Amino acid sequence: MNQALPKLTLKDYASDQEVRWCPGCGDYAILKTIQKLMPEFNQPKENQVFISGIGCSSRFPYYMNTYGFHTIHGRAPAIATGVKLANPELDVWVITGDGDGFSIGGNHMLHVIRRNVNLQILLFNNEIYGLTKGQYSPTSQTGTTTPSSPQGSVDSPLSPCGVALGAGGTFIARSIDTEAKHLAAVVTRAHDHDGASFVEILQNCPIYNDGIFEQVKDKKIAANFKVVLTHGEPVIFGLEQEKAISLNRESLQLEVIEVSGNEDKILVHDENNKILATMLATMSGSNFPVAVGVIYREDKTSFIDDSYQQLIKAREVKGSLQELLHSGHTWEVE
Ligand code: SF4
Repeated sequence: MNQALPKLTLKDYASDQEVRWCPGCGDYAILKTIQKLMPEFNQPKENQVFISGIGCSSRFPYYMNTYGFHTIHGRAPAIATGVKLANPELDVWVITGDGDGFSIGGNHMLHVIRRNVNLQILLFNNEIYGLTKGQYSPTSQTGTTTPSSPQGSVDSPLSPCGVALGAGGTFIARSIDTEAKHLAAVVTRAHDHDGASFVEILQNCPIYNDGIFEQVKDKKIAANFKVVLTHGEPVIFGLEQEKAISLNRESLQLEVIEVSGNEDKILVHDENNKILATMLATMSGSNFPVAVGVIYREDKTSFIDDSYQQLIKAREVKGSLQELLHSGHTWEVE
């Protein structure tokens, strides 16, 4: 935190590049929220880096007036790890999509999360490959009709938050592209977390998968289809806040119950409970709402800190690299 810095605004974070997403794309709303939020972190722009792979969302670094790197398909986590390791002072952000992050780059995503590298990963999930004209992705719902699945996809979609939890993630959250206030709050907590923060953002692609998240976005009905998680608060939803999530102690499954008369059975969100977090992150079926908010968080030493501790110890024992190179059996070539 540097108090002497001049106060920056959204405009300072908007680059001079023409934004080339389709009209109405959810990416615009996310970009605006992030540009507005960045000054809150009170850091020099020179310390902020956005790194992406390939896909519509991966154009993001062009539009941020910070350092940025539009890299290769699925490899943003590996490059971001290198950037952070080379200069831990940098505030590193990975921008990816469901195809880039969990198909082409699935392997890299697992490891950046498992290693708990100190960076923020924002995954724009539109459940489709937008840039390549609408093929089904690893998060597309079964039955999704696309040019590559003309009779409907027969794949089972993965849950990005579920996979991130399974990979050992220490900060897992979900938000929605047009919910600027909620998204900003979740991303702020992700930024505060020491380690790999994973945020899935439900993002509408009006061209190839329009309305896929309409139920959780339409203000008239959204309360019936999404539940906003708050640590220490009961997990309640519904237009009248009349429904709740409960853990059935016999089947060890989550279920939807009526609030009235069941107050003692309502689940209280504990963002440090991994088993419950996994169940909440992966709730599916027409009966269940989509959970948004901080789903899971744990304190754990981070990859960068551990790596540098090792480096310091190695230097104490072995000396500098220069000294090491000139020690032992060396000889001069004449
Ligand atoms: Fe956005 Fe979809 Fe257009 Fe890509 S194809 S820019 S995700 S609307």
